[in-house]
Amino acid sequence: MAVTSEQVTRVLKAVPKGLLIGGKWISTEKTVPVEDPSTGEVIAEVADASPAQGIAALDAAVAAQADWAATDPRERGEILRRAFELLIERSEDIALLMTLEMGKPLAEARGEVTYGAEFFRWFSEEAVRISGRYSVAPSGGTRLLTMKQPVGPVYAITPWNFPLAMGTRKIGPALAAGCTVVIKPAAQTPLTTLALAAVLIEAGLPDGVVNVITTSTSGPVSAPIISDPRLRKLTFTGSTGVGQRLIEQSAKQVLKVSMELGGNAPFVVFADADLDKAVDGAMLAKMRNIGEACTAANRFIVHESLAPEFSRRLAERMGAMSIGRGIEDGVQVGPLVDNAAVEKVTELVTDAIGHGAEVLTGGEAIDGPGHFYPPTVLTGVPTHAKMFREEIFGPVAPISTFTTDDEGIAMANDTEYGLVAYAFTQDLTRALTVAERLETGMVGINQGIVSNPAAPFGGVKASGLGREGGFEGIEEYLETKYVGIKL
Ligand code: NAP
Repeated sequence: MAVTSEQVTRVLKAVPKGLLIGGKWISTEKTVPVEDPSTGEVIAEVADASPAQGIAALDAAVAAQADWAATDPRERGEILRRAFELLIERSEDIALLMTLEMGKPLAEARGEVTYGAEFFRWFSEEAVRISGRYSVAPSGGTRLLTMKQPVGPVYAITPWNFPLAMGTRKIGPALAAGCTVVIKPAAQTPLTTLALAAVLIEAGLPDGVVNVITTSTSGPVSAPIISDPRLRKLTFTGSTGVGQRLIEQSAKQVLKVSMELGGNAPFVVFADADLDKAVDGAMLAKMRNIGEACTAANRFIVHESLAPEFSRRLAERMGAMSIGRGIEDGVQVGPLVDNAAVEKVTELVTDAIGHGAEVLTGGEAIDGPGHFYPPTVLTGVPTHAKMFREEIFGPVAPISTFTTDDEGIAMANDTEYGLVAYAFTQDLTRALTVAERLETGMVGINQGIVSNPAAPFGGVKASGLGREGGFEGIEEYLETKYVGIKL
């Protein structure tokens, strides 16, 4: 059913636009405009926090920390569970909000609500499973007691590409562990986080446990929070460059950090792969979120015997996708987030063509309004082309070929990043050998998507530190304390 203008007005009106500090919504004189990337129009104005307001948000999180840590795990879990149910109940409105501020097609936004909400359900169940150990020292006598305690107030910084899930993936485990939070969404997509905070309040979250700051000056507002000794944890999802700066800032007070950074995922199709499955997997790995995902397949490395047919089929599928505003029926490809993103993709495609790549479909930006780039397939892309080194973050699939498994794996590992890799093969031994040899935090075998709230998401090398989701996710928000007891 088509979205009506009344629905758009209602959803935009309902979302709070202020800062959430200590349970109160606070407006500011200066505001930050939020644009719809499919039209370039301003759809809302949200509060623009100053550095002092950032510290006020931390004050609120610090004040709420002790009581929240002392709240029964069952109660913490039940609040998360209620928030999960509310998100599912409001799925349509939250999906629409996300599409309006970020551009992804509604069907994908709905998928993100399901995925994002699941982090609350998963961690509502984990809240009551935090435990320690009791053992006898090897030399006898002394007893060793190990307990888990919440780290303390957390600062969470999230990107624009998954406005809901990147928030719930941090807030869920933090709350389950007993930590309070200050969250700062990207200036381009603050509305979803504000709506999420409203849901948490409705679910019964006490004042100050989650605080939200929106700002046009993320650096100056974040720096004093990060250098404040009352902060105990920084969790960041975003680009590797910003992540590196934040790690440097965190070093001063040896802050515990989690970093979910950039990717450059290889998608390797071995000679024995099931081609239908490989093309289906490629569509997901490349086109989910219009290619604007850290997990997006960035380099297609295809065995030379399959490359012509794989390329032909992928180009046919990608070339047939319908492009338009994400809120329109049947649209599969929305706009990129802004004009800079279109320019970056254009530059990478031009560079690849300059290095001898051939365009099978797409290859040129679409005139505005809105920031559209069509699904594009390039073959014969040499590995020294820029797009093999840098994150494309758009709907472009560059394909190159390999002959031996060793060569394919070496090409896959030839990057500073190590978030995820995809491998397609029907041979179990080859699949496991390849999974062991790929230098990434995650591997998808015969599937083009790995994200799952029950699995540990995260990267190695320049893709980051720590894991989100799974049993590992809550550990990032817990400290281990050891107590030695002389009997
Ligand atoms: P970004 O520019 O690094 O921004 C991410 C967040 O950091 C935003 O909230 C941004 O706020 C904030 N930020 C920027 N500069 C800052 C500073 N000096 N101090 C404090 N905060 C600062 O990344 P992006 O372009 O939004 O997101 C895309 C990147 O995220 C890609 O590299 C992608 O691979 C990565 N990503 C990784 C994962 C993962 O799980 N590994 C998941 C999703 C995305 P403002 O925008 O308001 O300045």
